[in-house]
Amino acid sequence: VEITLIETRVTAFSLPVVEVLLPLPLSGAFTYILPEGMIAQVGIRVLVPFGKGKLQAGVVRRVATIQDKLQARELKFVKEVLDEVPVVTPTLLDLYDWIADYYLCKQGEVLKASLPTGLKMQSTRTVYLPEGLDPNNVVSNDKEALILDALAFRESLSEEEAQRILMPTPAGPLLQRMAEKGLIYLVTDTQASYKPKVIRCLAFAPLYRTHEGLQQAFDLVKRAPKQENALMLVAQFLSQHGGKLPLRELHGHDELSHSALKALRDKGILQTEFVTVDRVPQEAERAERREINLTPAQTAAYAEIAEEAHQEKPRPILLHGVTGSGKTHLYIEFIRSLMGEGKQVLYLLPEIGLTRQIIDRVREAFGNQVGVYHSRFSPAERVEIWQKVLKGEHQVVIGVRSAILLPFPNLVGIVIDEEHDTSFKQQEPNPRYNARDVAIWLGYHHQIPVLLGSATPALESFENAQSGKYKLVSLRERAQQAALPTLQMVDMRLEAKEKRSHGQFSEALLTALQEVLDRGEQAILFKNRRGYAPIVVCNTCGHVPKCTRCDISLTYHKHSNRLRCHYCGYSEADTTHCSVCNTQGLRHEGIGTERLEEQLQDLFPTARIARMDQDTTRGKYGFARIIAQLEAGELDFLVGTQMVTKGLDFERVTLAAVLHTDSMIGYPDFRAHEYAYAMLTQFAGRAGRSSLPGNVILQTRQPEHPILQLLTKPYGAFYQQEVVLREAAKYPPYVRLVSLTLLHKDHVQLETEGQRLAAHLKARFGDMLLGPEYPPIARLKDLYRLGMLLKLPRTLSLGKAKAELRTGILDYYKHAPNKTLRIDIDVDPR
Ligand code: ADP
Ligand code: ZN
Repeated sequence: VEITLIETRVTAFSLPVVEVLLPLPLSGAFTYILPEGMIAQVGIRVLVPFGKGKLQAGVVRRVATIQDKLQARELKFVKEVLDEVPVVTPTLLDLYDWIADYYLCKQGEVLKASLPTGLKMQSTRTVYLPEGLDPNNVVSNDKEALILDALAFRESLSEEEAQRILMPTPAGPLLQRMAEKGLIYLVTDTQASYKPKVIRCLAFAPLYRTHEGLQQAFDLVKRAPKQENALMLVAQFLSQHGGKLPLRELHGHDELSHSALKALRDKGILQTEFVTVDRVPQEAERAERREINLTPAQTAAYAEIAEEAHQEKPRPILLHGVTGSGKTHLYIEFIRSLMGEGKQVLYLLPEIGLTRQIIDRVREAFGNQVGVYHSRFSPAERVEIWQKVLKGEHQVVIGVRSAILLPFPNLVGIVIDEEHDTSFKQQEPNPRYNARDVAIWLGYHHQIPVLLGSATPALESFENAQSGKYKLVSLRERAQQAALPTLQMVDMRLEAKEKRSHGQFSEALLTALQEVLDRGEQAILFKNRRGYAPIVVCNTCGHVPKCTRCDISLTYHKHSNRLRCHYCGYSEADTTHCSVCNTQGLRHEGIGTERLEEQLQDLFPTARIARMDQDTTRGKYGFARIIAQLEAGELDFLVGTQMVTKGLDFERVTLAAVLHTDSMIGYPDFRAHEYAYAMLTQFAGRAGRSSLPGNVILQTRQPEHPILQLLTKPYGAFYQQEVVLREAAKYPPYVRLVSLTLLHKDHVQLETEGQRLAAHLKARFGDMLLGPEYPPIARLKDLYRLGMLLKLPRTLSLGKAKAELRTGILDYYKHAPNKTLRIDIDVDPR
């Protein structure tokens, strides 16, 4: 019996393998053999062959064994194990799966969005000429000759350089063939794009680090006064710097001569060491701490939040509080109540809400445990934050959308400020996720509390709170005895008729601005177009310059003196000649922020004005600089786009004005009312946030519009009115939406393929499918677009609907004459 047992053990075939997720647009994981001697676990990175001659780093999703010899023969080997400890947590891997499934995209796309570039690592190839090969003597075709010619004068070529030479022929296969023929060597090497930042420091050799050791060191230099002096200074510096002094700090100290230092090093007293430093510097803790006592209303609201948060299975909590009601203080209390040894809380904010001010307030409360994550960090900085989150060194992370994809080992709660904000939704590319909804899923899945806050909740969120799915907590008044600002609607039709207006400015607005100046207060003006003039027209032939790649007219930018496409970034330098009739004289129509700033300066020559839009806030500190000026009282007026409408909290801002309110409410989108209501309410909320009363002016040609009428009423009134319309027209929250955008370079093919796809889907979805239809802008970046919309009743299983959609699309591709149609799918579009 024993003998047979041993025999089966010998013959049983079992091979360790890993399933690897690659940061590429691919579904699922790929299996590789784990060679003997390599140790792998879930969440570490491994380097594996992928594609012809290429290596790619991926993340181990599963460790397994296979018993099937035939299957094993098909597999490739792991080339290298890159980590000893996981860089992605198991919970994060589960989240990738959920996102890919819910948003109908590939796991690899989610990994790609999540993993910092610095950890993504790919192989690069270098081309060399074999020893003794004379490029002039080998027979080769034209393309090969190009490469050999280039190598005649250089030692090597990177694959990228080779690609540039060969354009438009793809370099990969050609180089591969050349290598097989022995014409070139191809050397593959992988480089980690992330390198820790290392500096050289001066330190005592271990022997001399104690008090007695130091005495001995001084004995050694007794007879050399210059060295003795230097040693004294160095000892002093080192004790101030915790024993390690960066070499660059030594510059400028003449007493520390090079020769004296060298002597100390030669004697073995000092040594140089390499020290890894943080790229993202730890900020000093802020000394001043404001004591905040919650108001009675805030205390009551907080008690309700805490009660739900500490339930065993907490529901998501929606904090609906008017602008300036002190929601931020409640978020901080909420975080404080969840904190503890090794625990982590995530605080998400819209991109432009993540200001110095808010970071300071959170740091005031939690000091150095706070980590900040925004999109302006460099790849290397992102790696460092990633690792600190992973090690639990950042206990409170305050960040934008993608911070939801960080590797928290022990997340115990999430705050989402301005939960209605559209910047939580990624529009392009995949994964088209909404960080708010991902947070809600994490909340249910891990049974942790999620606190959503807003003055103007998304309709879906408020509906969830009404139905009891979420817990609703309300704050109806502003803190600090501040009143909500007064709202003044100015009818621009009357202004024009009675000749009161001055260009774009009503008399009421001009008076209000003058008063702000006289009182030494501040005003914010909103205009939703950047640049100088959104439309340019030829005076002679009436031609309007358009983008060459998009169906969009070019905007004139005065500062840079260019015509620009605001979608794709295309620009033209000639801003004076018509490209059609070639005459001189182009007229500027309409108003952008740049022109508004100019007009305002003409009207108020002494006013200090700044502009805040994409053009003035490029660079790491552009935005912060303007905020600082506003805070320091160095500005009277601030002109800007969307950026000025959210999050700003300045005591002396007492006037908020919208120049063209009508352009906010006319969008052909079922959410137009919701967006306009939220936008205008949020913007109005910037004024009068402290003891100074605030005033809001809206210039409009339709003051009777229902949305404008609702602005003076509480959010509940808006909600009641809007849900009725949504239900009647079958829109969220009464149905679920999945939108499909079909894209193609050729509009004739787009039309036929679009109809073909529609037929496949109509067969499955019937009336639930709307379209195909051309969107308002039918071509962007050289691609024509067609839209389709699925309206799925809430009673329909979402899983089933998505499965139908998948098979419908697969069916279409099976029958399509070519597979050139691109289909972008967006679940819960916003
Ligand atoms: P919200 O986020 O609801 O718009 P904030 O939290 O920014 O409101 O609060 C608005 C302003 O009121 C802030 O300057 C804040 O410091 C102040 N504030 C709010 N609550 C209090 C309080 N209890 N005591 C003192 N100041 C407060
Ligand atoms: Zn364009």
